[in-house]
Amino acid sequence: MRKTKKITKLLSGKCGQCGSCCCDPIIELTHHDLKRLVNHTKMPAESLMKLYDSSELNPDGEDNDWIYLSYGRRKLGLRKKRNGECIFLSDRKQCSAYEARPLSCRIFPIDVILDEDYKFLDLELSEIITNKHIKCRRSSGLPASLKKFLPFAHQAQAETVSFWDTLNQWNTQSSGGKKNDFLKFLGLSDDQQ
Ligand code: SF4
Ligand code: SF4
Repeated sequence: MRKTKKITKLLSGKCGQCGSCCCDPIIELTHHDLKRLVNHTKMPAESLMKLYDSSELNPDGEDNDWIYLSYGRRKLGLRKKRNGECIFLSDRKQCSAYEARPLSCRIFPIDVILDEDYKFLDLELSEIITNKHIKCRRSSGLPASLKKFLPFAHQAQAETVSFWDTLNQWNTQSSGGKKNDFLKFLGLSDDQQ
């Protein structure tokens, strides 16, 4: 009963559209997220992404998503403007790529915990809120159903596993290329589109 109440409370929040979660954190991407953004915006992949080094990233991040390149290891993330905002955040604090936004943006600020067989285990508030890294201004809102929410969590888990497999192939087969070699490997370099 306590768990059901907690889940209902977490799912009932209504986004206050303050834009904080589109400014500070680096939004890590899978190649699936990046492909959807390229298809939606018709912009080259290179202008939408950046390869971030460890000094720029959350130290508690996953270990499976490092990309080994000739100049060191990096993670794939959404590019930011000079002021730190996501490139898609408009002056009115709205997402200009809303229909193709990365899955982590769709699920935020909830972390859905699934087991290896994609069975639902629990919901948590995102760590960047619980550790007060950003202040989320969600207010209470209409209850949302877990049923509607779960397909995104399933898709995110499946795409993350597929991304890790792809990175594993790159990291074991390549002798450490550069950014454009990696984008070519993903089928996302300019001359392939
Ligand atoms: S893609 Fe959209 S929702 Fe995601 S961080 Fe950027 S502006 Fe925010
Ligand atoms: S930080 Fe919270 S309230 Fe602000 S835009 Fe993100 S989800 Fe909405």
